[in-house]
Amino acid sequence: MATGTNVISMNKICKSFPLEIGGTQQVLFDIDININTGEFVSIMGPSGSGKSTCMNIIGALDSATSGTYKLYGRDISTMTADELAQVRNEYIGFVFQNFNLLPKRNILDNVMLPLMYRGLVMDERIRRAREMLKLVELSDFETYLPTQLSGGMKQRVAIARALAGDPKLILADEPTGALDSKMGNEILQFFKKLNRDMGITIVMITHEFDIAKYSERLIHIYDGRITYDGKIPKSENDLMPKTKKDKK
Ligand code: ADP
Ligand code: MG
Repeated sequence: MATGTNVISMNKICKSFPLEIGGTQQVLFDIDININTGEFVSIMGPSGSGKSTCMNIIGALDSATSGTYKLYGRDISTMTADELAQVRNEYIGFVFQNFNLLPKRNILDNVMLPLMYRGLVMDERIRRAREMLKLVELSDFETYLPTQLSGGMKQRVAIARALAGDPKLILADEPTGALDSKMGNEILQFFKKLNRDMGITIVMITHEFDIAKYSERLIHIYDGRITYDGKIPKSENDLMPKTKKDKK
């Protein structure tokens, strides 16, 4: 697997949101993240710790308040909205907890949708979408509506849609959050396969250690700060910095 090329390079990223009552709430503090091609990384932390905020910045869906962020060597902070959309389209496949499928379109249409922006003729779009549905083993279901499928199948449609654009990077925010453990396990195995066989870099967000364990590297965020970055530790307790008392 080709590793080494820098995919994500965040340097002292901070993010604050304005509060309606005035002032701001700082959500991310001096986040440094470097991820290279071919890695499978999970970003883990409890609810409210800033994972999605971080993911939105990684995915060029939102911008940082300060700090620098380079995606494939390109400085995101100076780009226009159009340029950001182009970067997202070119490099990234998104997978979300709630699938984000169009409920009234069949699954073939759902997978074809992102291909509209790629200037492909209709036949090409259909061919590509069918290829992706085959990859996620849903070829027999192309005329079904999302509502007719199980959660695990819906997430596979969402993955097929993400893959249709031939992304170098998959960003998955709690991809198994709405699934039971069996379906969740299938999705995680599939991510492993995409990473191993196709060399796709995967960044997965989760609040569960047992899910993070499927990846090769874990970045732990707590209250907007990174408290751990490295191999999957033996115990979840190792994700928090040791206090003096613990060390004894
Ligand atoms: P996580 O994904 O780890 O659960 P989030 O990144 O969604 O955490 O949220 C972290 C904090 O930032 C929370 O306190 C949340 O209320 C706040 N937050 C997230 N998005 C916004 C927003 N668009 N506007 C204001 N506050 C936000
Ligand atoms: Mg979240």
